[in-house]
Amino acid sequence: MSSPAVKLDPRLMKAGMAVTVADLIRLWSDHTPPALPAPEQCRTCGHFYSAEAPLCPTAAVVRPLLRKRRYEADTHGNLSRLTTNQTDDLLCAPKHLSTALTWRKDF
Ligand SMILES: [Zn+2]
Repeated sequence: MSSPAVKLDPRLMKAGMAVTVADLIRLWSDHTPPALPAPEQCRTCGHFYSAEAPLCPTAAVVRPLLRKRRYEADTHGNLSRLTTNQTDDLLCAPKHLSTALTWRKDF
């Protein structure tokens, strides 16, 4: 019996509900492109970016959690660990994610 496996980063699975903001920032940093142009796939898990799936499974789980807790992260100065592109992808609207347009070869 097989089902399509969604590969979440083991660090996220291990931390579960006790995940810290520092963990979330590290995961976001590892699973989103540090700079433009965005690559065709996640450098950590190999997920191929597309217009339909502009975030890898780990980033898709981490993004809403980190957005909710970003003020906690700001307090500790942890957001400064992210690059400009990673910060933009965290805080911008989903359709403006840098990885949402990699399918456009003319971009
Ligand atoms: Zn990934």
